[in-house]
Amino acid sequence: MKVAKFGGSSVASAEQIRKVAAIIAEDTERKIVVVSAPGKRDKHDTKVTDLLIELGELSLSTGKAEEQLQAVLERYRLIADDLKVNRDVISVIEADLRERLESNRDKPGVFMDAIKASGEDNNAKLIAAFLKSEGMNAIYLNPKDAGLLVSDEPGNAQVLPEAYDHLIKLRDREEVIVFPGFFGYSPEGTLVTFPRGGSDITGAILAAGTQAELYENFTDVDSVYAANPTVVENPVEIKRMTYREMRELSYAGFSVFHDEALIPAFRNGIPVCVKNTNNPSSSGTMIIAEREYFFNPVIGIAADDGFSTIYVRKYLMNREVGFGRRLLQILEDEGLSYEHIPSGIDDTSVILRDHQLTEEIEGRIIGRIKHELHADDVYIEKDFSMVMIVGEGMHNTVGVSARATQALARAGVNIEMINQGSSEVSLVLGIHQEDSDRTVKALYEEFFGASDGTIQ
Ligand code: ASP
Repeated sequence: MKVAKFGGSSVASAEQIRKVAAIIAEDTERKIVVVSAPGKRDKHDTKVTDLLIELGELSLSTGKAEEQLQAVLERYRLIADDLKVNRDVISVIEADLRERLESNRDKPGVFMDAIKASGEDNNAKLIAAFLKSEGMNAIYLNPKDAGLLVSDEPGNAQVLPEAYDHLIKLRDREEVIVFPGFFGYSPEGTLVTFPRGGSDITGAILAAGTQAELYENFTDVDSVYAANPTVVENPVEIKRMTYREMRELSYAGFSVFHDEALIPAFRNGIPVCVKNTNNPSSSGTMIIAEREYFFNPVIGIAADDGFSTIYVRKYLMNREVGFGRRLLQILEDEGLSYEHIPSGIDDTSVILRDHQLTEEIEGRIIGRIKHELHADDVYIEKDFSMVMIVGEGMHNTVGVSARATQALARAGVNIEMINQGSSEVSLVLGIHQEDSDRTVKALYEEFFGASDGTIQ
């Protein structure tokens, strides 16, 4: 059997949902269908999840948000009417949303999770009703009834190992199961969402839990591309890539697939296929354990903005036992996670995602590093991008970094930091944010300029 997940744009309108129904009907092995909330119908549209966040926040701050509630309901009404689904389902959705809005507000994170998750939950109910009306043996299944147990961290859930003992039972079900993505339940019964874009994670957990033969991830592009198509014109299509390559690329800004969704698939050896709802006959991109690296040591170039560095200099830092631990302890005390730590003899930089920092946090960190660690110099710099060159084959290929740095020298880009993990799956280059597009174009030209349109 297969698990098929349909992203927001695949379920954004009645027209899209009809395509989804046709895809499910075409292959009887598609037994579990995971759906997102309705996404954008065009680039000026708003995702239902974003409408729900506005609704929840306004309701928390003012106690009323009828207009925002109606905006959400209107999206479902339009879909239901066009699909000619019985209007009763809209009454069910409205009652459900009003009930969630009446729920306890003592913990705003818990309240917001309940509101956000209604996007996928109610869409799953609507889609199941449509599939049934088309004569399919389909049912809606709630993650609580399925036993999708997760940790109790609002907006940041992680699957608990015992969930897999429950999910395996879904394999024997007769019906096509329509399952809402994006959330599970804590052992105490509280609804908790995954990070944004987390319906991919639900799909991967279900594929792993049911030991599916394939996890299909339907989106709105024919494949994963070697670079961001909004930066590089007509980038080559990747036909096969490994889990590690996909994980690295999605971490650095490839939004096609959530980076956390790879882990359950990888651990259970389930192949993932990224496919296009609007062009299902295209073969898509297969994500698997191994590929042939000989012709394409590098598979993709990604860039992500929004990094800051904390620069620390202290004479004889290399001799001071425990300096690194004390520095990281200060960050841990502020709840900050870091991404890279390139170091010299007497200096080190900690690179972290900027959204975690506030003026107050910065002030506290700088003060503590100066006074407790007696650093000679400490400052924070902002607006860095991390550009990643990714490919399993770099490990066995001489000269990849030389080609990369030469390409950047020709493009006149100053490299602020270079980092390569010992697995050599990726080479990370820290640059100023304003150079990001230029860097990606130069690297793409260097590694894929001579390519004929696809990489195997
Ligand atoms: N609807 C959620 C979001 O927009 C989850 C998802 O679509 O994967 O983040």
